[in-house]
Amino acid sequence: MLGLQLSIPCVNPNTYRIQPEALELISEAIARKHNVMPLAVIGDALRVAMAEADDAATLKELTDETGMEIEPAVAPTDELREAIAQNYRGYSGSGSDASVTMAPPPLAETAPAEAIAEVPRDAALEHEGAELKLALLEQGHATAEGSAAVNESPPDMVLTNLNTFRIEPEALELIPESIARRYNVIPLAVTRNALRVAMADADDLLTLEALTAWARMRIEPAMAAPGEIQKAIDRNYKAYAEIERQFSATAAPTPPIEEAISSEAIAGAPVVRAMDLLVDEAIKNRASDIHIEPEAEKLRLRYRIDGVLHDIASLPLNAHALLISRLKILANMNIADHHRPQDGQFSVKVRGREVDVRVATIPTAYGEMGVLRILDKSFMALSLGELGFSPGNMEQYENMLKSAYGMILISGPTGSGKTTTLYASVNSLDCKGYNIITIEDPVEYRFKDINQIQVNPRTGLTFAAGLRAVMRHDPDIILVGEIRDPETAEIAVQAALTGHLVLASVHANDAVGSLFRLLDLGVPSFLVSSALIGCVAQRMLRRVCPHCRRLSLAPIEAQLAYHQEMGEERAEFFYGTGCNSCSYTGYLGRIAVFEILRMSDEVRRLVLTGANAGQIRVQARQEGMVSMWHDGMLKVKSGITNPSEVIRNVFSLG
Ligand SMILES: [Zn+2]
Repeated sequence: MLGLQLSIPCVNPNTYRIQPEALELISEAIARKHNVMPLAVIGDALRVAMAEADDAATLKELTDETGMEIEPAVAPTDELREAIAQNYRGYSGSGSDASVTMAPPPLAETAPAEAIAEVPRDAALEHEGAELKLALLEQGHATAEGSAAVNESPPDMVLTNLNTFRIEPEALELIPESIARRYNVIPLAVTRNALRVAMADADDLLTLEALTAWARMRIEPAMAAPGEIQKAIDRNYKAYAEIERQFSATAAPTPPIEEAISSEAIAGAPVVRAMDLLVDEAIKNRASDIHIEPEAEKLRLRYRIDGVLHDIASLPLNAHALLISRLKILANMNIADHHRPQDGQFSVKVRGREVDVRVATIPTAYGEMGVLRILDKSFMALSLGELGFSPGNMEQYENMLKSAYGMILISGPTGSGKTTTLYASVNSLDCKGYNIITIEDPVEYRFKDINQIQVNPRTGLTFAAGLRAVMRHDPDIILVGEIRDPETAEIAVQAALTGHLVLASVHANDAVGSLFRLLDLGVPSFLVSSALIGCVAQRMLRRVCPHCRRLSLAPIEAQLAYHQEMGEERAEFFYGTGCNSCSYTGYLGRIAVFEILRMSDEVRRLVLTGANAGQIRVQARQEGMVSMWHDGMLKVKSGITNPSEVIRNVFSLG
């Protein structure tokens, strides 16, 4: 609780440089009603000073009023009242202070700084004064003393010339580009225990506070003109801006692509650099996929981070053919064929480690779309304990894995982490003592001491054919990447009934559903009932980033869902505000939720007698099956995620 309170800044609304745009978003009536003062628009959020930052009702009303996320800051009640009177001057009928309603005297554009300093410090004037001060700074007219006088800063606060200042790369790494742009600041150097940061207003406490939180260091502000700062950001932060720049450099009419790109002239070309940056940034941001998507007017670039796509840049369309061609060269694909889907693979070395990238292209209405999947080996090698099993589920699943023979089905939609669970299960088995063989499409991770077979329909090596061949190699444990046809289902069930432990994934919505999937594939119910050990269904939820999480009012449907499932009324849950650690997504990593159907005698009997899914589900719950939905809400309760994530991933009409 203490940490949370500390993360909400305290402000003095009477010295804060209030943005006129912010003022327009909250009417005087509302401001007076709740005694709140809008301060600034920051990204999608409106920063509002209020007496109690955790006043959920007020926050909700302000959100409804403005349609924006409210970022609270704390201020004393009487200062808030004063600030409202000062700033909503035109509409204040009180007339208690005549001078307040007077228009500020006009300031000459070239007024010397000393003159400004003598002007009474009324809120609006201070605002204009600051603007003027900045204008002066930008024109290089202000002296160090002059700017200090306006600013009431210590006299040692001198204007930094960003054109000549050599910015330290270590300093740049402490503040990410998006934050630098959001607050218009640029880190300069690390000095003793502080980070020196150039900013337009060295008195902006909220910005200082935010920077301190990100850099986890004391911030030593240095003055610089805002225009200069922006240029310095462009110059010093590479990545997306750089990718865009590489393409604007090639804005000249595009030459015939095949010739231009397949030739050796490509070495050092902007497109090579851009593609390298795109992959490098993706890995830095924990992205699993990169999408290159042509649209009517632009080329859209997106990263999938923790399972969700995020826009990262849009490029002019002339970048499209170049990037796709570069991709095809890297992945050994046919560069001249634009009309058929293709796939390939390449490896890159990023920060000393080899990373495999799988590439697929497919023609769309606007041209070829490219998707790069980054195969993260560290994620593939997780142990069972790291997946997110609750203690009860873990015990049950481990018991299932101890069976000498029978079949365990893992189900869930694409991207629900089935492969990760299968791999973690294999990892937990004794690879030396048993003969373990896998049949996969594709082989995503290579194990030691395990024979892995890659399905290849072109050579007739289907799941079914592979499985048939495997049976002749005396396996103890067989992993079938996916059961999706009757033939594979039949052989897998036979294997399970003849002394083998079979692990397989199927496409099904929930645990009971995967049992019915086998029936749908034509396996008779008496075989299903005797071959199956259990069915596991799973989904992946994003974890709320622990570095930037704060209790926030959840959407009403999320509150209701939690209340209904947990019997506990609660309005606020952890949501991330976005920070360096989580690539500004508010989420960091994922955790699986599970639902395990154990084939008890009673469940087997129900399958044999042709019971429907509902009847089996009721029986399983009576025997202690925890639904994925409930497992998810338990993870909400323990603060790992929020109800919105559970709804997004687990909701079904079952
Ligand atoms: Zn974060």
